[in-house]
Amino acid sequence: MTTEKRSFQAEVSRLLDIVAHSLYSEKEIFLRELVSNASDACDRMRYLALTKPELAEADAEYRVVLTPDKQKKTLVVDDNGIGMTREELAENLGTIARSGTASFLQNLTGDAKKDLSLIGQFGVGFYSAFMVAREVEVISRRAGESEAWRWVSDGRGEYTISPAEKAGRGTTIILHLKEGEEEFLEPHRLRHIVKTYSEHIPLPILLKEGGKEEKLNEASALWTRPKAEIKPEQYKEFYHHVGHVFDEPWLTLHFRAEGVFEYTGLLFIPSTKPFDLYDPQRKGRLKLYVRRVFITDDAEGLVPAWLRFLRGVVDSEDLPLNVSREMLQSNPMLAKMRSQIVKRVLAELEKKAKDSPEEFEKFWDNFGAVLKEGIYEDLDHRDALLALARFRSTAGEKLVSLEEYVGRMKPGQDAIFYVTGDSVAQAARSPHLEGFRAKGVEVLYFTDPVDEFWSGAVGEWKGKKLKSVTRGGADLAKIEGESKEASADAEDKDAKAPANVQSLIAIFKLALGDAVKDVRTTDRLTDSPACLVADEGDVDIHLERLLRQHRHIDKLAKRILELNPKHALIERLAALVGKDGTTEQLQEMAWLLFDQAKILQGETLEDPAAFTRRLSGALARGLPT
Ligand code: ADP
Ligand code: MG
Repeated sequence: MTTEKRSFQAEVSRLLDIVAHSLYSEKEIFLRELVSNASDACDRMRYLALTKPELAEADAEYRVVLTPDKQKKTLVVDDNGIGMTREELAENLGTIARSGTASFLQNLTGDAKKDLSLIGQFGVGFYSAFMVAREVEVISRRAGESEAWRWVSDGRGEYTISPAEKAGRGTTIILHLKEGEEEFLEPHRLRHIVKTYSEHIPLPILLKEGGKEEKLNEASALWTRPKAEIKPEQYKEFYHHVGHVFDEPWLTLHFRAEGVFEYTGLLFIPSTKPFDLYDPQRKGRLKLYVRRVFITDDAEGLVPAWLRFLRGVVDSEDLPLNVSREMLQSNPMLAKMRSQIVKRVLAELEKKAKDSPEEFEKFWDNFGAVLKEGIYEDLDHRDALLALARFRSTAGEKLVSLEEYVGRMKPGQDAIFYVTGDSVAQAARSPHLEGFRAKGVEVLYFTDPVDEFWSGAVGEWKGKKLKSVTRGGADLAKIEGESKEASADAEDKDAKAPANVQSLIAIFKLALGDAVKDVRTTDRLTDSPACLVADEGDVDIHLERLLRQHRHIDKLAKRILELNPKHALIERLAALVGKDGTTEQLQEMAWLLFDQAKILQGETLEDPAAFTRRLSGALARGLPT
């Protein structure tokens, strides 16, 4: 087979463009990326050798060798890992297959500075080699295959693949350094880079120079070393390597479980949201090792989906080495480890919430929505998660817990009130909040889509019902308000609802017919004339919109139109009832108020033309002649 020329996937070209044209301040990280890949390749080889030992026999001492050549101006990174076939070369080094990439690329702005910081979080992996190399050559031979392949590219849109010679399995990467990048041929520089970024790599990284080999790292698995001997920097670099993320760990949790079975965990919680956090597969990302041998980073069941943001490793002393990925799922030991890991993580979160509430808020802003999935689906941990849950509320900027909320409920208040919306700003504009605000009754903002689901499933907390302010009666009259005036008002509210308002309601009902479930007065409004609410047993309005967006339902439930009897407009309308020739006008007003309430809710109108016609008519009538 001869040389074949191919184009990079468009996304790769874009990425390479940014890499090549930005003055990246930390070019040296290319070596971290290549060593990290070499280490992953050796891990995968070690796993393969569990079932096919003959593939490793000839060369079972896994290592990475760095060879600088000052004459040729090349730096060679060589590993005896699993290697790549021709198809794998094309797939792995010509496309970006990693999940989350699509959203990463969507986030690119074209502004070099902003994009670079994004890449910093994401990591460009193999492609970072083009920061220092004008040409990259990859010669690879897959374990068990006799042929080897050469991949070559200058990183400008195309690469070639052709047959090559290679004595053993593994991958050799030859970087033809750019003019001015000769520093990466200096042994002291390479030594320093490896110490900085790759000290934790559990296989030897060797520097080959003048026929001599020098080991640059300690080469033992970081998680097996005593905590006291590990520096925060080393934890961080290890986190970057295992997590494929490049932020600071928000939490580092290193423990050894001893007892019936033994295992070590080195877990991290990121300080930023990983790009694939809302991937529909909700996969956990912990790496499972058995006695230092990497088994899988896809161990379903090692952590629940609501802890999928955890990064790190779990290394078991007791699982059988030949455990297949498929067998793992039903292994009772895995289930035990899972429940213990969950316990440890929850205990750690509780501690943070108590001791450093501000730090905890940062965590909650990133991952609260994911933990809430646990409230919904994980009955065993529901109470613990509810205790950790934090919310924004009408009481101010600070996040509140349910405990705090209940602690400051008003006398006479027997429910935890919440308002749902796409954002706090949007929810805060809800007219339904007016009466609560007037009485100083705190309302929680539920702005994550999952809020609709867990609140429905949980129903109540410590005997207090969770109640949407857009559903059912508001019962504000029973609650003692902040000002004397408001509570006095509430007491005689029904008595004061004048007879002509009742007649107005009758006219509205007739006009709107099937469009509404009911029309009634409310005390939940102070400034707005009308709003729509869901009936007690009906789907809440915001949830209905979510369900419609996702095409789970297409028909709207009928709503209740509530009128504010103290609003000037309603008073005026009520006064018109019974006057000659006003019935038609009142019917038009019923529709106008109904549509207005819909607009406030962020709904689209079924008949915008009719709405504007009515509005224009009303405006025209209102103008002085
Ligand atoms: P990532 O490591 O995050 O998957 P990279 O860009 O670093 O992304 O590498 C892309 C892919 O190329 C890897 O997932 C792996 O499949 C393959 N690869 C890279 N380097 C090697 C190597 N030295 N040996 C075997 N496969 C490799
Ligand atoms: Mg990589």
